[in-house]
Amino acid sequence: MINRYDVLIVGAGHSGAQAAISLRQRKFEGTIAIIGEEAELPYERPPLSKEYLASEKQFDRLLIRPAPFWEEKGVTMLASRRVVSVNPEAHWVVTEDGETVGYGRLIWAAGGRARRLGCSGHHLSGVHSVRTRADVDRMISELTVARSVTVIGGGYIGLEAAAVLTRMGKRVTVLEAMERVLARVAGEQLSRFYEAQHRAHGVDIRLNTVVECIEGQEGRANGVRLAGGEVVPADMVIVGIGITPSVEPLREAGLGSANGVPIDEHGRTSLPDIYVVGDCALHINKYAHGSPIRLESVQNANDLATVVAYAITGDPRPYDSVPWFWSSQYDLKLQTVGLSIGHDATVVRGDILSRSFSIIYLKEGSVIALDCVNAAKDYVRGKALVAGRAKIDPLQLADVTIPLTSTV
Ligand code: FAD
Repeated sequence: MINRYDVLIVGAGHSGAQAAISLRQRKFEGTIAIIGEEAELPYERPPLSKEYLASEKQFDRLLIRPAPFWEEKGVTMLASRRVVSVNPEAHWVVTEDGETVGYGRLIWAAGGRARRLGCSGHHLSGVHSVRTRADVDRMISELTVARSVTVIGGGYIGLEAAAVLTRMGKRVTVLEAMERVLARVAGEQLSRFYEAQHRAHGVDIRLNTVVECIEGQEGRANGVRLAGGEVVPADMVIVGIGITPSVEPLREAGLGSANGVPIDEHGRTSLPDIYVVGDCALHINKYAHGSPIRLESVQNANDLATVVAYAITGDPRPYDSVPWFWSSQYDLKLQTVGLSIGHDATVVRGDILSRSFSIIYLKEGSVIALDCVNAAKDYVRGKALVAGRAKIDPLQLADVTIPLTSTV
């Protein structure tokens, strides 16, 4: 006799937790279980590179819901179990320990794994990723002795970690392969702003820098060798070069590719009763101008999970949320709305030097995204502009005396 649940959720992270919460909010009365590879109850990942790394927030405060919530809502937590295969015909999954768990509907919410470096030395101790609580606990335990830290990758996670560690008094170097930080996610003005801010705090930001390998002694990293032969000394190395979607069992079952699993606007895959949400869902997003995209954000994880709960409870509503994201570095709160990919013009609203401004991204005259730095009002008002693809005179957008509304 195998355990069987009406809804089985694989992945106890943001989207998995939200799927269960939304199903119960929608009065779903069937059985629900969440299988998760990590030992913890679902927790918020964003603080891992911010307040948790800085030891400003205890782990309890990261929990998405307190422990009793799951029992009260009748959600069974199957922790510390990794699903290794999915049988779509039999409607069951198998865990690493050989346990078989049946499902009526399967929601795949397994997120992604931190991408590892392909070069030698990537396995040395002192080389860290920032994806799980366990990753950050390992880092924190080494920080008492580490004085110099080299961060490989100038994306949001690497830069957030650099900001925290600099504030702790560490000597921090950031190595970025491209010609600017945040190149995948933001326009050039924002990249240059953050490079300048980090440099002003003493971070050594190196662009166009190719890592050859991690060097070490007695199994422990002590430096990063660059393509030109220079070795950047490091007591600790943090690798922040993106994620690989965790979808292998679904791929073996015939779904998707290494870059995620395609879903329709209700989160459904091409196999019956299998849904995919969160970081590993390759979806059509109208704010990405029609191309399939994977988004790695709490907004996307929560909203897709909610869309699936609506579909399962018989009131399907297509996914059409405006993407949003945030990042905290030093005293800078960045709030992003929309997707700037494909923009053909930008407008700076406010004075960049004042450290409170917004960059507004336009495509064919329409507002498609905003990056708002210490400018919460622009962010709130900007959302409506992005949703409506508002066309506003760039001179008005730049004028801080005119509120950002689509009616002007
Ligand atoms: P996750 O939250 O990663 O959850 C997936 C879970 O599935 C994990 O617990 C994993 O162990 C488990 N799992 C994987 N494979 C299996 C398997 N085979 N069997 C069982 N369990 C499995 N987003 C923002 O919007 N703003 C931010 O500021 C921000 N900061 C971030 C900082 C860091 C350090 C990180 C790592 C992410 C950050 N993000 C941020 C991104 C955001 O956290 C993710 O987009 C979100 O967590 C995705 O949710 P998810 O449910 O898809 O995946």
